[in-house]
Amino acid sequence: MGLRDFSIATLGSHSALQILKGAKDEGFKTIAVCKSGMVKPYQAFPVAEEIIEIPRFEDFLTVEQQLIKKNAILIPHGSFVAYLGVEKVKGIKAMYFGSKAILEWESNREKEAGWLGRAGITLPKIFTNPKEIDRPVIVKFYGAHGGRGYFITNNVKHFQERIKLHKGEQYVIQEYILGVPIYVHYFYSPLNDEVEIMSCDIRYESNVDALGRIMARDQITFEKFDPSYVVVGNKPVVLRESLLNKMLELGEAVVQESKKITPKGLFGPFSLEGVITPNQDFIVFEISARIVAGTNPYIAGSPYTALKYNEPMSTGRRIAREIRMAIEQDRLHEVIDNDHAGRN
Ligand code: AMP
Ligand code: AMP
Repeated sequence: MGLRDFSIATLGSHSALQILKGAKDEGFKTIAVCKSGMVKPYQAFPVAEEIIEIPRFEDFLTVEQQLIKKNAILIPHGSFVAYLGVEKVKGIKAMYFGSKAILEWESNREKEAGWLGRAGITLPKIFTNPKEIDRPVIVKFYGAHGGRGYFITNNVKHFQERIKLHKGEQYVIQEYILGVPIYVHYFYSPLNDEVEIMSCDIRYESNVDALGRIMARDQITFEKFDPSYVVVGNKPVVLRESLLNKMLELGEAVVQESKKITPKGLFGPFSLEGVITPNQDFIVFEISARIVAGTNPYIAGSPYTALKYNEPMSTGRRIAREIRMAIEQDRLHEVIDNDHAGRN
C-alpha cells in the first residue's frame, strides 16, 4: 500500500496543527477530529484534508470505526489522556502511533519514579506524609484544572490549612526545586535505534509568570492572592551547549530502561520536564510519553533539527517521517501499538 492509502488523524487541539502539517509534508492524507465550536483553526490553517466533528472530545470513540475504515493512524497528544483518560486510550482499536503500555508507567507516580530512578534520573523528593515536610514543597493537583490551585508551603500547619480547600482532590507533595524549569523534547526512533533532541521550551504560565512584573510591596496589596500555573503558551529556549551531553545521556537512559519494563519500550516523541539548578543538575518532575505542546514553536524546525535535517523538521513531521519509513520498510507493526496495521 502507498502512503495515500493511509491517513494521519488526531484530535483538533494541543499540537494537532503541527502534527497534521508534518503529515501533509510527508505525503499523507490528514484528518482532524474536532469538537463542535472549536473547528475554526482547522479551517483557517489548511493542514487537515478532512474535518470530522464530534460534540465533545469524550465522544471520540463514536467515530473510531469511521477512522479504521479510512486506514487512519492516530497520533496521540496531551488532549487524548486529558479528555479520554488512560483506560479509554488503552482501548482504542484504530492504529495508534506509540506505546500504550508505557501510559501506565507514566500516569502512576510510583511506577514513573521507579522507571526514571532506575534510569539514573534525579527526581524531587516526594512527601507522602505531610508531617515530614521539612523544606519548601509544591503541592500539585491532578485532573481537569491543569496547574490551578497549586500552592507552595514549608510546614505541615500551613499545608493543612490550605489543603482543606481541596477536599477529594488527588495531589502530590513535591520538594520545590529552585532553578529554571525546562522542557526537553526528544524523539526515539525504533527503526534507527536513535534518540534525537528535537527542541526545548519554557512554559508561559498564568498567573505565576506575572509575579516578576510586580514589586513585593505591590504583591502584598493583593489580599487574597493564589498563584496558579495554568499554561497559556510556550517560549522557545536553546540550552547552553555543555548541557546537551547530559540531556542526550538522560534521554537514552530513559529509553533503555523503558525496554526493561514493557515489551516495546518507549518510542516516538517524549519529553523530560524538570528544573535546572545553578549546579547544572536537571531535576526531573515529570516525563511525558508523547508529543508535548512545547514543540509548537518549532513547526518550521528548531535549532537542533536544523543541524540534522536539511529541511524544516518539526516533531510532528518527524512522527510522520517515522511512519513513512516504517511503511516503506514494511515495518509498520513496529511503530503501531496494536495489530490493526495495514488492515481495513
Ligand atoms: P488542550 O490542548 O487545551 O485540550 O489541553 C490538553 C492538555 O494538554 C491539558 O492537560 C493542557 O494542560 C496541556 N496543554 C495544552 N496546551 C499546552 C501547551 N501549550 N503547553 C503545555 N501543555 C499544554
Ligand atoms: P506541572 O503541572 O507538573 O507541569 O508543573 C507546573 C509548573 O510548576 C512547572 O512549569 C514549573 O514551573 C513548576 N514546578 C512543577 N514542579 C516543580 C518542582 N518540583 N519544583 C519547582 N517548580 C516546579
